[in-house]
Amino acid sequence: MDELRHLFRRAADHAADYRLSLPERPVGVPVDQAVLNEAFAGPLPDAPTPPERVLAELVTAAEPGLVATAGPRYFGFVVGGASPAATAADMLAAGWDQIAFNAVTSPAAVAAETAAGTWLKELLGIPATASAGFVTGGQAANTAGLAAARHQVLADAGWDVERRGLPGAPAVRVFAGAERHATIDRSLRLLGLGTDALHPVSTGPQGAIDPDALAAALRDAGPGPTIVCLQAGNVNTGACDDLRRACDLVHRHGGWAHVDGAFGLWAAASPATRHLVDGLETADSWACDGHKWLNLPYDTAFAFCARPDVHAAAMSYAAAYLVGSGGAPAGADLTAESSRRARGFAVWAGLRELGRDGVAALVERCCALARRFADGLNAAGFEVVNDVVLNQVLVGFGDDARTDRVVAAVQTDGTCWAGGTTWRGRRLMRISVSNATTTEADVDRSVAAIARLAHGIGGELVH
Ligand SMILES: *Cc1c(COP(=O)(O)O)cnc(C)c1O
Repeated sequence: MDELRHLFRRAADHAADYRLSLPERPVGVPVDQAVLNEAFAGPLPDAPTPPERVLAELVTAAEPGLVATAGPRYFGFVVGGASPAATAADMLAAGWDQIAFNAVTSPAAVAAETAAGTWLKELLGIPATASAGFVTGGQAANTAGLAAARHQVLADAGWDVERRGLPGAPAVRVFAGAERHATIDRSLRLLGLGTDALHPVSTGPQGAIDPDALAAALRDAGPGPTIVCLQAGNVNTGACDDLRRACDLVHRHGGWAHVDGAFGLWAAASPATRHLVDGLETADSWACDGHKWLNLPYDTAFAFCARPDVHAAAMSYAAAYLVGSGGAPAGADLTAESSRRARGFAVWAGLRELGRDGVAALVERCCALARRFADGLNAAGFEVVNDVVLNQVLVGFGDDARTDRVVAAVQTDGTCWAGGTTWRGRRLMRISVSNATTTEADVDRSVAAIARLAHGIGGELVH
């Protein structure tokens, strides 16, 4: 008995020690992957190993290869940390080992998802009548939303896609901004619609869909099953599509409007940025991440659908042994998983920890820090390429080769971490401020490090 308690405490202590080390730990240290692989390798042991020793071995092997993505100076991709209560709740979820399949396998997990789903819809301004599936990421949320879309646009054309599949089905046209996230394409592949069904629509200078181009594309396409993928939060610039105008166009055309708002949908949670996603409530389905800007642990995201019946028709399955589980669609009915991790506990805890004001403050603080980054880098003589409307900053350091050298130098330096990207044919540094623990001092320290490294590299600074 005492051994289990001791083991769990050791694991919690390791986790806490790691978290407490984040503010001063080098962010992205270069690692020899082969050496790290070797630390985990070796023959599968024949005999059992005592749990305490297994845990100690794991910590020793993993430590050198951990990346401080949860820390305050990690600005790569769009990442975010994991808040204390949410992380602790996730540790409990592992301890409880619940199956969030339905209310029979875990009434508590379903209750947590139901309550957290209600709160999420309220924070985001999604209709309270919408369904909320708790999925693994923006990718899975896009797949669930587009599966619901596929169901409905084909049902409208008299085709039952769940029963008959796609062979012989009316063609489905999919429109999406040219700057859509690549997960949209993969979702379309997985759903059998294929990327040939995808018609890119031109975008404005910041990457938001051009509503006039969308109107023209829909007009040219004529009647027929139509899905439009809109975006809240371009991964490079943070730009959001004009959702009100675009959804109106889609609905006049009889189509389905899906919004990929993996991080950008959180603009809705603050009065300062809500206008960027005005009209979001008029869409038919939404994808949103919890593990990015909301600072929840991996893997947490949400697939919302304005019509729960359509959501469940696309995603749920029935089996003889499930008869009697009853109730509204929940848990596995709204996701592509069957047995599932109870990620609702961490979501519930994270939202309760922050409250409505805390979520708004998180969004506002990250946006203000992104502007501080942009101002600091501008003042240091570098070129900020995007309109910093949200938490994303794009920076150029001269020509492509030079920018790549600066990005590489920043990544090995360890003060902070930022990635590279190609935007409109140009190599740039991409900075995303998404972590709840990032401070003004963290930004200033990072700007100073980037400037020091960039100035240390020869050549022309400005493009
Ligand atoms: C991150 C992101 C995704 C993918 O989300 P995952 O959680 O990594 O699966 C999709 N769309 C956008 C706009 C994103 O930023």
